[in-house]
This record gives sequence, C-alpha cells and structure tokens, in this order.
Amino acid sequence: MCRHLAWLGAPRSVSSLVLDPPCGLLRQSYAPRRQKRGLLNADGWGVGLYGPAGEVARWRSARPLWSDASFASIAPLLSSGAVLAAVRSATVGMPPDETAAAPFTDGRWLLSHNGKVSRAALPPSPAAESTCDSAILAAHVFDAGPDDVVATLRAVAAADPDAYLNVLMTDGAQIVGVTWGDELSYLVEPDGVVVASEPWDDDPRWVEVPDRHLIRVTSAGVTVTDLELT
Ligand code: GLN
Repeated sequence: MCRHLAWLGAPRSVSSLVLDPPCGLLRQSYAPRRQKRGLLNADGWGVGLYGPAGEVARWRSARPLWSDASFASIAPLLSSGAVLAAVRSATVGMPPDETAAAPFTDGRWLLSHNGKVSRAALPPSPAAESTCDSAILAAHVFDAGPDDVVATLRAVAAADPDAYLNVLMTDGAQIVGVTWGDELSYLVEPDGVVVASEPWDDDPRWVEVPDRHLIRVTSAGVTVTDLELT
C-alpha cells in the first residue's frame, strides 16, 4: 500500500508537510513504520495543492520522492492551506508512469487511493487520468459525487470483495478519508489538521482512525464515523 497525507488549515509549505517531518512521507518512501503490505514506496509520488483562487496545482513524478532534488529545492516556496500528497508502491501490472501517481483530480477535488482493486470490478471511465486502478476508482468517485464516496466504495467492494479501498481526498475546504483495509491517523495542531497513513512523528497527540471508518475535517473540526453507521 502506498502512504498518503492531507493538510487543512493555515498555509504551510509543502516541504514542512512532506519533506521535513522526521517520519513523514519522505522517510515513508523508503522506511515506512506501519505499512502492512510492501516495504517501500519508490514508484513515484505526487502532491496537489490549492492556490489563492482555489485553483488546483499538482507536481507528480514517477521517481522516488527521495531522488526528486529539484522538487526539494522549490518545496519550501510552495505554501497552501490545503495539501494532499502520496508516495506510491505500484500494484503489479499497473502503469509505472507519473500519470498513475496520486493525487488524481477532476479540477476541484484531489484524491489519493491506497490499496488495490481489480480493474474487472471497475467499469471503464473515460474521465480516468490513467489505466491504473486508483485513477479509474478516482474517476468513479468524482463521477458519482465525492459526497457519495462511501456508497461508491461499497459498490466497488461488492464487485471485488478483496479490494483495499483506503481513500483520502480534499476540495480545499475539507478533508474526507475512508479506511478500508488500513488505518489513518490525525493530528490537531493549533493552525490546522493533518491526516496521514501513519504519524509523521511520535507526538502523543496523534489519534488513530481504525479500519472501516470515515473521517471528515472541516474548519469546524474533526468527525470520525464507523462505516457501519453511515
Ligand atoms: N493500486 C495503486 C497503484 O498501483 C495503489 C498502490 C498502493 O496503494 N500501494 O498505484
């Protein structure tokens, strides 16, 4: 499984969110601490963020995050109040190029999928950015409406009961995350909230979101709901 992270709050630099934390995504690209499947996440990475007018911008790469020296030099200059980033461990048979790296977007939402789903369980979508399972899943979530993400995932799981469907997404004003085969953790900071596959440090304030839960972060706070109750 890949690893992903989202930030919502006051603007922070991409380097402070992705590169600097001692056990953050950079470290998770070669030494994740809580990853259940796969030893490292070296098959590309990506980050998406929102500009002042709500415009979406992405930097994605097929290279390991640790080797992207040019990005590391500009990351301190990129700041946003809503950021979503992921490092990738490609599922066997999926394309290796950067178009298969999360986050995917419909121009408004950014979405990262950690896991795998049989492409036979996903009807083709012309809107998919890649033939990667995660890109097709993202297109279905966007098509159905991100508010209905749980219903979309349930339909996919009905077609592929072995699917891992961990999803993290943002529209710049909220973060929505679903655990389906893995966990998430979140940390409430004075200036915002970070949601991540695994804590980026050993701060005891990190809170775990168990498997099969929905987390929603808005300016009003954090809610976590058991999927059984949605
Ligand atoms: N299936 C997706 C891919 O191939 C995600 C893989 C993962 O979560 N490790 O990129």
